[in-house]
Amino acid sequence: MTDDPRAVAEQADAAAASRAAEVAANLAAVQQRIAAACTRAGRSPEQVRLLPVSKTFGPEAVRAAYAAGVRMLGENKVQELQAKWAATHDELPDLQWAAIGHLQTNKAKLVAELATEFHALDSLRLATELDKRLATAGRTLRVLVQVNSSGEESKYGLDPAEVPAFADELAALPRLQVVGLMTLALNSPDLRMVADNFVAMAQLQARLRSSGAPGSWDELSMGMSGDFELAIEHGATCVRVGTAIFGSRPQPDVWW
Ligand SMILES: *Cc1c(COP(=O)(O)O)cnc(C)c1O
Repeated sequence: MTDDPRAVAEQADAAAASRAAEVAANLAAVQQRIAAACTRAGRSPEQVRLLPVSKTFGPEAVRAAYAAGVRMLGENKVQELQAKWAATHDELPDLQWAAIGHLQTNKAKLVAELATEFHALDSLRLATELDKRLATAGRTLRVLVQVNSSGEESKYGLDPAEVPAFADELAALPRLQVVGLMTLALNSPDLRMVADNFVAMAQLQARLRSSGAPGSWDELSMGMSGDFELAIEHGATCVRVGTAIFGSRPQPDVWW
């Protein structure tokens, strides 16, 4: 420890550099595991996109990910997304943000203004508000419908059986580009039960496609640090990974 401002600045630079190296190494390791899972599943690695989740980590994690080549980050809380956007946007203008967590309708404006993707669309009321706010902002938004594939009461998302009718309703909202489905699988060490959730998602995707439901349904956002390889084996096109890249999250769950 020192009071000399130059030494303090050097220490901060060294800490940022070592954090950047750590994040870069973790990203490379996760990319390698994704490639291996694709090989096992007979899929091309280009079919699976890694969405790093920076929640609870501050702007230094954002900069570290950017330096390692990341151009889109996921956040589950929209105020946290806004805070990190504000802290880094001038410096990293081509960094995009995906809002991946449950959103209250009264916060739709922030997602409409700041996000490129929204992975947790789960009600017509929210969809309508997003569409309205997007029109005001002169933007469009890629949206994924969140599905409760595990049936747990604690989880957000539509019941799979509700999705086809929901897709028809979304077709009336021109600012929303419906690109696919998202789920949070059961958090369980029993991988067969987790796999059941992923299988249900792939079946729902196939049903939406074959019935010609409006929307593209190409994206299956499923799989996190603990289960992304299994998700890839069942057709995930986007895996949302936090812990395996940025480390375990501090308690309580806030940075800003
Ligand atoms: C936190 C979070 C993730 C990433 O979870 P990890 O287990 O840390 O990889 C993925 N999706 C959502 C919706 C999240 O909130």
